[in-house]
Amino acid sequence: MKRIKELQIKQSHIKKLHDWVRKNEPFEACAILLGKIRDGIAEVDEVILTPNASESTVHFEIDPELLLKILLEAEEKNKQLVSIFHSHPTRPYPSGVDIPYMQNYPDTVWLIKGLPETEPMHGFQWFENTIVEVKINITF
Ligand SMILES: [Zn+2]
Repeated sequence: MKRIKELQIKQSHIKKLHDWVRKNEPFEACAILLGKIRDGIAEVDEVILTPNASESTVHFEIDPELLLKILLEAEEKNKQLVSIFHSHPTRPYPSGVDIPYMQNYPDTVWLIKGLPETEPMHGFQWFENTIVEVKINITF
């Protein structure tokens, strides 16, 4: 398990995620971000929008079969799962239901978008039994 210090994501990917959040309202939106993790830096190069299987305003669920399919295809494309994105109706910090999920995916960045719209996204990792913040670096 390695500490991820930074998530590099393009402005166009951020826009795609923002649009997806708006489209899913009032439910939480979710997405899978693929790319590469090197020397503690996670670089996003593909955003895969996924439906929230639970259609909930307080949690999200990606259909396990869909997730498996995405991960197998990622392997074929020689890409890694770099981040799991979801939105919150409130503050962009991991909730009680997020934590057990995070513990299952410690080698990835949890990217969360909160409301209001102007609130920036926040990144987190489950590392050494606690939640640590991952810096978000938006590139052009
Ligand atoms: Zn959450």
